[in-house]
Amino acid sequence: MLDWIFEVANQNQKILNLFQSTGAYLKGHFRLTSGLHSPEYLQCALVLAHPKHAETLGRCLAEAISAIAPERPTLVVSPAMGGLIIGHEVARALGVRHIFTERDPDRKMTLRRGFSVQSSDLAVVIEDVITTGGSTAEVVALLESQGARVLAAGSIIDRSGGTANVGVPRTALATLEVQTWDPPACPLCAQGLEVVKPGSRPV
Ligand code: ZN
Repeated sequence: MLDWIFEVANQNQKILNLFQSTGAYLKGHFRLTSGLHSPEYLQCALVLAHPKHAETLGRCLAEAISAIAPERPTLVVSPAMGGLIIGHEVARALGVRHIFTERDPDRKMTLRRGFSVQSSDLAVVIEDVITTGGSTAEVVALLESQGARVLAAGSIIDRSGGTANVGVPRTALATLEVQTWDPPACPLCAQGLEVVKPGSRPV
């Protein structure tokens, strides 16, 4: 059990080192998508900008998925934009097809561009970061509504501290409990520091 804990901690540290060495581990004063403020932010896009790192992370995540999926997947599905590169690399490692979902103008998750799934498809859903698991859960529901079976889900980073529930078995390469504050209780706001929105979604 101790070895297992050490191994997980060790992998967490390796992933964080990779983020630090590529400048993707940001420190400052950030407003997260949830509206909470945080002193740190992991910008996956800055790690995935390096194809070699993207390939390595994809291979590691494919191995982690294989360890929890009851059967061999036939398909990887990611929500755009964040899941595109890592989903592609996981699919490369698994030797299967990769497709992605997009939000329509009503913010509903959809398959466009001629992408479709079949009832024989055994899918895994891959994202860069899971915070609440909301996007992954929406992709799972979309695939199931179209008749595919979803075996598992995975992300590079789990920012939920392991608590996000997406309705299928889930894994992540690094699990973090990021410090957050409600804006009125934020010590960085109290210091008068300007808050930055680092993510990809509009504020
Ligand atoms: Zn603040």
